[in-house]
Amino acid sequence: MVREAGGLHKFMNWHGPILTDSGGFQVFSLGPLRTITEEGVTFRSHIDGSKHLFTPEKVMEIEQALGADIAMAFDECAPYPCDKEYAIAALERTTRWAERCKKVHSRKDQALFGIIQGGVFNDLRERSAKELLAMDFPGYGIGGLSVGEPKDLMYDVLDHLIPLMPKDKPRYLMGVGSPDCLIEGVIRGVDMFDCVLPTRIARNGTVFTHKGKLTVRNAEFARDFRPMDEQCDCYACQIIPGLISGI
Ligand SMILES: [Zn+2]
Repeated sequence: MVREAGGLHKFMNWHGPILTDSGGFQVFSLGPLRTITEEGVTFRSHIDGSKHLFTPEKVMEIEQALGADIAMAFDECAPYPCDKEYAIAALERTTRWAERCKKVHSRKDQALFGIIQGGVFNDLRERSAKELLAMDFPGYGIGGLSVGEPKDLMYDVLDHLIPLMPKDKPRYLMGVGSPDCLIEGVIRGVDMFDCVLPTRIARNGTVFTHKGKLTVRNAEFARDFRPMDEQCDCYACQIIPGLISGI
């Protein structure tokens, strides 16, 4: 339907950049509701219970139909904690799936990024990076972090991995994150992030401002007609907390 509507940019009337994830992480987060095989991932919809099979080829078909500027390869995200054997198997499958994705991806106006896996094992991260770098993707995601491991462990993986990644291609840390993690990531050379955190906390009435977190539902803001963040002139920050705290 989105393809028929002219792709995501036309569908949303948004002319800035758009990135679509492959569903690798989303499938991972389904836990026991999914089965992973070499062919792909079978899972049941949490909405209507219907059964679906995602293969690298199917995912490429969907992402090319959506038509974002950047599409992510279909990967297998290992959980944390996970033993080394499992992390190796997920890394190897991610490489084979990346090859399958590359083979069927044909849109010239869309960049296909590979996703580096390897859990929290520095030698496996190095191996995953080497295998994907050999495929010469125009950009690379760092997947499988921010899945419950301590922050220091994530920073240690980034310290070892990022110097191995090309400086002239985007280095994208997936699923991160909180303001402190963004800064720590940028210090280490990360160029791109994505995270549900801002929208997730906003659903519960909290926003990040220059002065820290602000919860609009707090009684003290009920008759406060100042913008949420006086240091920012974006559309969202001009919203007056007192007016939306009753929503
Ligand atoms: Zn703002």
